[in-house]
Amino acid sequence: MKSPSPEASFAPATEVVRLGRDPFRFDGFVNPPVVRGSTVLSPTYEDLVGHTGRYSYGRRGNPTSEALEGALSALEGADGTVLTPSGLSAVSTALLSVLKAGDHLLMVDTAYRPTRRICDTVLSRLGIEVTYYDPLVGAQIAGLLKENTKAIFLESPGSQSFEMQDVPAIARVARERGITTLIDNTWATPIYFKPLDHGIDISIMAGTKYLSGHADLNIGTIAARGPAWKKVLETHGDLGLCVSPDDAALGARGLRTLVVRLERHWRSGLAVAQWLRNQPQVSRVLHPAMDGDPGYDIWRRDFSGACGLFGAILKPVPERAVAAFFDSLALFGMGYSWGGFESLIIPFDCTDYRTATTWNVEGPAIRLHVGLEEPEDLIADLARGFERMGAAA
Ligand SMILES: *Cc1c(COP(=O)(O)O)cnc(C)c1O
Repeated sequence: MKSPSPEASFAPATEVVRLGRDPFRFDGFVNPPVVRGSTVLSPTYEDLVGHTGRYSYGRRGNPTSEALEGALSALEGADGTVLTPSGLSAVSTALLSVLKAGDHLLMVDTAYRPTRRICDTVLSRLGIEVTYYDPLVGAQIAGLLKENTKAIFLESPGSQSFEMQDVPAIARVARERGITTLIDNTWATPIYFKPLDHGIDISIMAGTKYLSGHADLNIGTIAARGPAWKKVLETHGDLGLCVSPDDAALGARGLRTLVVRLERHWRSGLAVAQWLRNQPQVSRVLHPAMDGDPGYDIWRRDFSGACGLFGAILKPVPERAVAAFFDSLALFGMGYSWGGFESLIIPFDCTDYRTATTWNVEGPAIRLHVGLEEPEDLIADLARGFERMGAAA
């Protein structure tokens, strides 16, 4: 639901405290109430048939969801924002908003893997043609356009392998041809990268990650501008999507501390990444905000910060040594998702599913999420892990 929200005009740390709150509308309570409700009553027949109320029906929004949507619209510089039950449903809803049978979609090869699955199953079944493209294509994306290309989907940095895309260059080509652009901006969040200000039409975030920040919520957000916003709003409504008021309130609560948490994740993540880079067991670190990374120049040009998620390629070791490393870690949980307070680690391998690029690395690949713990403790944990790895090799 579109809600009037002021343009973000203070620094991000101030905005996340201020936006989406109207205490004196709710008897002075600092946070908007968690409003449970499906039916919304009209006081008179005239109001009912004239749709004069601010709200019409629970599924279409209430003061709790509206507060978070309004805050995000201001942060993103969007005409409006909708909430979805997960990050993945934000991706599918955004794609379905702008594509129809016979259309062609350019999808980045380094997209979040379940995003690829949507393309290969749902979109393919609907008669939408998908071509995967190299994340480093930049303005050369012009050479991949077809007569029926209607949308280009980006994700920067890419899932698992962290390639940075030249977002403004791709957006410029798309804009000249009237092609809609969508980006999965979960890594940077609108705090560190505002896609709509770089020519993108639709900005998607898995709020499950840093917006939530506590590994206790699945939620997605779609912010858009111009004609794309009208399509997103309509399709979101037609598909019957909504989130529970408790989840919207958790998302809004996460927003209040997003800037301080991200700063800490960024700083600690870089400290761990820089330490890892100097370890004899590590071949290279994949962190676009670290000097020397292939994506560093684009990151520095376009982004104003980084989060705690990055990767590393180890020197070749047998799998049992990798297992010994993982099993010995006391502070890194082994599990999917990220963005919470806790540090996490997973192995990954893109060999079997990338199609526009080749994943051919020199050793085992790992992805780390650096949480809010003291980085010295995390480094000591990893150092112990490497000792165990060496003993098991
Ligand atoms: C986790 C993730 C999603 C999906 O979010 P869910 O809430 O788990 O559905 C989408 N994109 C990226 C980049 C993610 O990391």
